[in-house]
This record gives sequence, structure tokens and C-alpha cells, in this order.
Amino acid sequence: MNFDVEYYRRDFPALQRTLYGRPLTYFDNTATSQTPKCVVDAIESAYYNSKANVHRGVHTMSQEMTALQEAARERVRGFINAESTEEIIFTRGTTEGINLVAACMGDSFKDGDEVIISVMEHHSNIVPWQLLQRRKDIKLRVIPMDECGVLNMDAYRGLFNEHTAMVSVTHVSNVLGTVNPVKEIVAEAHRHGVPVLIDGAQAISHRKVDVRDIDCDFYAFSAHKMYGPTGVGVLYGRKSWLEKMPPYQGGGEMIAHVSFDHTTYADLPFKFEAGTPDFVCIAAMHKAIDYMESIGIKRIEEHEQELLKYATERMAAEFPQIRIYGNAPVKDAIISFMLGDAHPYDVGLLLDKQGIAVRTGHHCAQPLLESLGLEGVARASFALYNTREEVDRFIAALHRIEPMLL
Ligand code: PLP
Repeated sequence: MNFDVEYYRRDFPALQRTLYGRPLTYFDNTATSQTPKCVVDAIESAYYNSKANVHRGVHTMSQEMTALQEAARERVRGFINAESTEEIIFTRGTTEGINLVAACMGDSFKDGDEVIISVMEHHSNIVPWQLLQRRKDIKLRVIPMDECGVLNMDAYRGLFNEHTAMVSVTHVSNVLGTVNPVKEIVAEAHRHGVPVLIDGAQAISHRKVDVRDIDCDFYAFSAHKMYGPTGVGVLYGRKSWLEKMPPYQGGGEMIAHVSFDHTTYADLPFKFEAGTPDFVCIAAMHKAIDYMESIGIKRIEEHEQELLKYATERMAAEFPQIRIYGNAPVKDAIISFMLGDAHPYDVGLLLDKQGIAVRTGHHCAQPLLESLGLEGVARASFALYNTREEVDRFIAALHRIEPMLL
């Protein structure tokens, strides 16, 4: 495959830096990806030239900034193939998107209703439902998985009953890398008339996401994990649900008319966008999508899959003591591992001293880690700019630290 990774690396100034005199190897892409210069340039340009509040002014700068924000909304719509920009809500990120759905869909839940999640959810797809439990007597039902990290679909089908009100599952596990069969999950839920939220935080930068093909009712993701800026994200919502849901927060721009007695709400999507949005970073997210699509999501996926295969094979062949968690047949480029019984923090700290950034800990998925009998793991995850040479450096570093730890 002709994928000129060295050419793309030049777009990311952070990758030029060194750590402890060694070149940086950034393998913490699941937590956040690095940002290409075009995205930072868009932020700078907006701050220097057109920073004016959106949807609020007749003056030229406000009109320009509004046009940039709304162009970004149209860009996101096309990127995920939503039917209409009314279905694209700008949020602070995946977490806020899921909280919005839990709070607003949850408004219509009855005591005794049930929400199906999976054992591999990030805390941001567990805790919002638990917060809802303060208002409603709802139950969480959990889809189990097998030892490879694949969801048990028979068990999933068995969880439905007349109380099931919602299904909320991750597209890709941030620990195991498992790519869940979201189309099948949605189809089953819809057979029962149950809406589905997909947590797309880990899928959006690694594979093509088409919300109409998946047929989900909600899809949430964050810009900072897709080469974009921090602080913004997107919640896709099917129009028919968004119309029925009450607003999430109250404030400016989400209203049609306010009096002291009564308020009517703005049309979609603004009903869900109270207050001044992060319009500068929304405009910059547009550039991040342009950037990914100029390379090609499919090509990015293929490149990352090659790195995943290469790194997994070398780790398995050269380190009998390494255990890799997550061996699903369809898996994104995430490798969570234990080096013997070495504490993952020690692994992470020693790798850092060699210029290699991996994540360690529970990865905001404590129930999953507990189900594996673990408190934490080390995790290496790849993005479009990572190389085979970096994997070689990582393997060499593991060889160096192994005798220190075991
Ligand atoms: N869901 C998954 C699967 C994640 O991996 C993450 C972040 O790592 C989130 C949700 C939360 O994303 P954010 O912190 O950007 O809201």
C-alpha cells in the first residue's frame, strides 16, 4: 500500500519533539490524537480575523463566524451521512453527548424501565445512566463478552423485555479495541421498538461511520480524538427523537421566545445548544475532517491495521510473558497488555523515559478491568502518523525494560 507516512508526519509539529533526548513515539492516540498544523492554523485565523459571537449579530464578523460554524455543521453531516443538519448538535465531546441523551431521553422513562449497556463501556456511558437513577428507578442490564472480548449477542438478545427503554453501547472498546457489530445491535433493538445510542469516541477516526447505514438513533463523538481541537464534539440524533426530547440546558440561543411565565424553544438543532458554543474550535473541527478525508479514512484504517498486526505479532512472538487483552477478529489499533506481573505504571514510566508515550491505568473502564481481574493495563494505540520504525522502537524498549521489571 502506498501510504507516505513520513509525508503526513510533517503536518504534526508535536511529532518532531524529543523526550529525554530520544524521538517522541506517541502511542496514546486512544486518549487523544495529535493535531495537524492546518487545524491549529484554522484556530489562529478565527481568533485573529473573525472572532465574533455566532447567530447574534447583523455585523459582518458575526455573520462570517456564523457561516464558518454552520459550514462545519454541514461538513459533519456529510462526514457521517446524516440526513439533515438539524440532526447535528455541537457538544463539548462524547461525554456531553451521552449525558444529554441520558438526561433528555431519560425524561420520558418510567420507573422500572431498563437500559442495556455492555461490559466494555467507558465510564462516560455508565455514569450518566446512573445519574438518571437519582430521578428514575431504572435498571442497567449489561451485555457480557467472551474471553476474546467479543460481545455475546445471544445474551444481548435475551436482555430485552417489555421494560427495555434504551440500548447504549460503544462502537469500539477503548481498552480491547473490539469493533462491535453496531448494525446488528441496532437492528435487534429496533425489532423491539427500542432506540439506540452509539458511543463513537473510538470509531470515528479509524473507520467510515455512516449513521444512516448503522440506523442508530444517536451517535456521539469528540473532535480531539480525530486530529481536531479539544473541547468540541458532536451528537447526531435522529430528528424524530430530537423533536420529542426536552432541551438539555437552558440559556441563550436555545429559545424562540422567553417571558417570565413561559418559554418556547428554538428549532433543531439550536434547542440543544444553549449558550455560546466553542465556535472557533467547531470551525477547526471542519479542517480536521477535511484533513482526514484528504488522506482517506479507508487508507488510514488499512495503515493502522498493518501496524496493529505487526506490533501484535512481534509482542506475542518475542515476549512469552506478555498478555494482550482483546483478541476480537474485528479490532481497531489498540493493544492493551500486561508485561508479566509488572505494574502497568512501572511499564508506562520506563517506556516514557525512552520517549514512548503509552497510557496506563483503568482507562475509564473500571467494570471491564474488574471483570478481567485487573486493576490496570498498559495500552499502546496507533494513529495515521505512526510507523513501523516506532513499533520497532517500542519493542526494543520493552526488551530493555523487561529484565528490570521481571
Ligand atoms: N467513550 C469512549 C469509548 C472513550 O474512549 C472516551 C474517551 O477516551 C469517551 C467515551 C469520552 O470521550 P471524551 O472524554 O472526549 O468526552
